Amino acid sequence: MAANDVGVDEFRADAERFLDASIADGVAFKAFGAILPPAIFEPTRAWQRRIFEAGFAGVHWPAEHGGRGLSSDHAAAWAEECARRGVASYMNFQGFILAGAAIIKFGTDAQKERYLRDTLAADIIWCQLFSEPNSGSDLASLQTRAVATDGGWLVNGQKVWSSTAQLSDHAILMARTDPDEPSHRGISFFLFDMNQEAVDVRPLKQMTGDWEFCEVFLEDAFISHDDLLGPLNAGWSVAMSVLADERASVGAAGLALQRQLTDVADMAGISQSARYGAVDLMSIGGAVGRLLSRSGGDPSLGPLTKLARTELDRGLTAYMNDVRGPAGMLNSEAGQAFLYAPGMRVAGGTSEIQRNLVGERMLGLPREPKPPTSG
Ligand SMILES: Cc1cc2nc3c(=O)[nH]c(=O)nc-3n(C[C@H](O)[C@H](O)[C@H](O)COP(=O)(O)OP(=O)(O)OC[C@H]3O[C@@H](n4cnc5c(N)ncnc54)[C@H](O)[C@@H]3O)c2cc1C
Repeated sequence: MAANDVGVDEFRADAERFLDASIADGVAFKAFGAILPPAIFEPTRAWQRRIFEAGFAGVHWPAEHGGRGLSSDHAAAWAEECARRGVASYMNFQGFILAGAAIIKFGTDAQKERYLRDTLAADIIWCQLFSEPNSGSDLASLQTRAVATDGGWLVNGQKVWSSTAQLSDHAILMARTDPDEPSHRGISFFLFDMNQEAVDVRPLKQMTGDWEFCEVFLEDAFISHDDLLGPLNAGWSVAMSVLADERASVGAAGLALQRQLTDVADMAGISQSARYGAVDLMSIGGAVGRLLSRSGGDPSLGPLTKLARTELDRGLTAYMNDVRGPAGMLNSEAGQAFLYAPGMRVAGGTSEIQRNLVGERMLGLPREPKPPTSG
């Protein structure tokens, strides 16, 4: 049988053997959220390389670019077996879910050749340079400019909240290439080299105590013609596809959710109030979360799954800390999860924006009125 004819059950059994052996050897790396904590960069990179060498990185990515060329069912089986064991299924969310998927969909053959294999092997780490100090929810108002020069573009501007930027070799970057076009029409999408003097990365400290995201200042930074992804001035549609993938994947971790709900059920015996809280979390929120996570990361359900999952996470982490009392905040894992959860309601589009998307795109409600323009 050809390697890419392997059935899902056989593939799952291989994955189980590999994961169990890696856990026994002490090399499997524990799952973390969508943002890689800088302190675990090297061990997680070692884990990603081991995954790659064993053929479990990019399960559904093209085989000619380092993946396995298998189906999304095979990829889901890998993610499920990792989640069942609490092990990270990949290292770099921005590389694997965002940049990689965008290059597979929109990239030229040369871009696929240049970037995909190295991304899977963790030889290239990516970050996402979309948000700016005055452009977060209203991303189409972004002001970073890319001006044509010999062989490509020169970029000037400031990005912010750029997760993992201080550890990244490359970025997916949105910049305005035609300021005369209204809002989203004049924007292009680039694959951007972070290793240049014109890029100044300044890490920002979060309330978790970690330095996971950064400000990034760009002063005449160079982008080659080869690194435009998708058509010039039509980067908005590439970005919308990236953001849909981001939302869907943030909401889709069903098995991890199941484990959290089991912990809640275990804690419910502690007191009467713990029981009430558990009923609350496990009834509507938990049931909806579980049902949505079965959508397998369907991008069309992304706003709903992201909203449900990140709101539920906030409730779950607060519950865990309430029931544990002050000791909960001193237990670093539960305390960290509690401090991390609010950021995920904002990253990838806030809960308010997801509610707007659910109302307008999924329920067909009237569009949000725009504020009147002055003048
Ligand atoms: C942990 C974390 C990691 C991140 N990582 C990255 C990254 O790697 N790369 C990147 O580019 N960005 C990243 N971001 C930025 C994130 O995408 C933005 O913070 C987010 O889009 C919100 O933008 P803003 O912070 O400018 O808030 P604003 O857009 O200024 O919003 C402020 C408040 O107004 C509300 N609001 C705004 N518009 C509306 C509306 N139309 N209707 C109702 N309410 C509205 C918002 O919900 C929010 O409560 C990250 C953010 C966090 C917290």
